[in-house]
Amino acid sequence: MTRTGTAIAKQDYDVIVIGSGMGGLVTATQLAAKGAKVLVLEKYLIPGGSAAYFEREGYRFDVGASMIFGFGTEGTTNLLTRALEGVNMSMETIPDPVQIHYHLPNNLELKVHKNYGKFIEELTAKFPHEKIGIRRFYDECWQVFNCLNAMELLSLEEPRYLMRVFFQHPFACLGLVKYLPQNAGDIARRYISDPELLKFIDMECYCWSVVPAGKTPMINAGMVFSDRHYGGINYPKGGVGTISEKLVEGLEKFGGEIQYKARVTNILMEQGKAVGVRLADGKEYRAKRIVSNATRWDTFEKLLTNNPLPKKEEKWQQRYEKSPSFLSLHLGVKSEVLPIGTECHHVLLEEWETMEDEQGTIFVSIPTLLDPSLAPPGHHIIHTFTPSYINEWEGLSKQEYSQKKEAAASHLIKRLEKIFPGLVDGLDYQEVGTPRTHRRFLGRNDGTYGPIPSRKLPGLLGMPFNRTVIPGLYCVGDSTFPGQGLNAVAFSGFACSHRIAVDLGI
Ligand SMILES: Cc1cc2nc3c(=O)[nH]c(=O)nc-3n(C[C@H](O)[C@H](O)[C@H](O)COP(=O)(O)OP(=O)(O)OC[C@H]3O[C@@H](n4cnc5c(N)ncnc54)[C@H](O)[C@@H]3O)c2cc1C
Repeated sequence: MTRTGTAIAKQDYDVIVIGSGMGGLVTATQLAAKGAKVLVLEKYLIPGGSAAYFEREGYRFDVGASMIFGFGTEGTTNLLTRALEGVNMSMETIPDPVQIHYHLPNNLELKVHKNYGKFIEELTAKFPHEKIGIRRFYDECWQVFNCLNAMELLSLEEPRYLMRVFFQHPFACLGLVKYLPQNAGDIARRYISDPELLKFIDMECYCWSVVPAGKTPMINAGMVFSDRHYGGINYPKGGVGTISEKLVEGLEKFGGEIQYKARVTNILMEQGKAVGVRLADGKEYRAKRIVSNATRWDTFEKLLTNNPLPKKEEKWQQRYEKSPSFLSLHLGVKSEVLPIGTECHHVLLEEWETMEDEQGTIFVSIPTLLDPSLAPPGHHIIHTFTPSYINEWEGLSKQEYSQKKEAAASHLIKRLEKIFPGLVDGLDYQEVGTPRTHRRFLGRNDGTYGPIPSRKLPGLLGMPFNRTVIPGLYCVGDSTFPGQGLNAVAFSGFACSHRIAVDLGI
């Protein structure tokens, strides 16, 4: 026992990763594969964070993510395939022929087909007068994607790597430098003037960036708007949670360790350097490098309580704010509820003015259309969620909270009846999650989905990479470059592990 009565664990590690979200696991597996001694500490019972699952009455629900990019077979942007391969793992996936079926105001019904030509044709049929503009905007997204997809995606904080890729792919690099400070909305407005089409492009961005096109970095838009037609959207067989389970299996095969129910309460500092962590049960572990997969707000405000907020983080917090969390409805429904030909992912909005409102846009995912094994026979899962802020759900008595949840759920279901008539009568199971649930189970500050620009920023230039101002401490996941989404945080994991490997000389 130490002076403070805490138990110091004997083992020393090369790297400790706080959290087993996709960002943390990709960092850990990549480093373990390079021979580093890695320990992952996860406060929950299973790995995956926002990409985990839970089971109820024969249903296996994805906690969050279900529209999965990064499982392509070609190019370099298929980072989930590559992360698994890094530890000799692979998994079966089911291709989704349509990324999203939009149900938008003024009866704008549109499907984003995997086939690029088919999507452009369908969109052009709705806005024939914008035929050229549509083609130019989406083709410019391809330019961004082709640059990214030409090079190995590693740490942009590593000068030797930057030099190497520059000499290997000079045009791709210059292309990316050009797009780095730009936002998708500005580029769309260069080619398109129809206000409704511009609103559609806002929604195309909002449904993953949670901000309209004017605030969405062109690098991310280029990636999403092209990869959906290239690598495509592929659902992992057995549910999204299996990705993390496979990564953990791979981590352990390469000698890495993971502990569950291991909540880190403090990052330990010595002479201004991060040297270890303390858990809620008092155990302490030390390592040469510490990686936090918690959000930046949690990392700097909760795990480093004895340190003043670094100036750089203060600045970051002025530029980026917490996006809303979600009100989530996990439904089990009778199969008859779904009309024949129903697609897996839907976005529903009745009035353009409410796109960014609390409980404005509704997102729907029906993974059992791709993998029926996730529900009992004759049933489907409908996971639906809509942005919601924590302050809407605080200061309520237990009874008020429960009543508010019920009321919000039935309002959502009523709205969903527009696309699934008969939904109320077909309900078999219902579980409601609020921003409080997201905060509690995902360990995310205010349950936030991640950082969003608090004002218009120059593209992705303001997103921090993995190193922090604290020597020995790195961040990984959606509050680092390039932001939210499983494939994006996998990118952050590749970059973080690369930077650490260079720093450790392995
Ligand atoms: C409802 C919803 C739907 C989404 N849909 C999609 C989608 O369709 N496609 C897509 O690509 N992305 C989607 N996303 C986004 C995507 O899931 C996230 O961007 C991504 O999973 C975040 O990964 P991460 O590694 O940054 O962190 P997280 O997933 O937040 O993981 C962090 C981990 O760290 C652990 N942790 C935190 N603090 C501590 C601590 N002190 N001690 C120990 N452990 C700790 C947490 O328990 C958690 O396991 C969705 C997200 C949500 C919430």
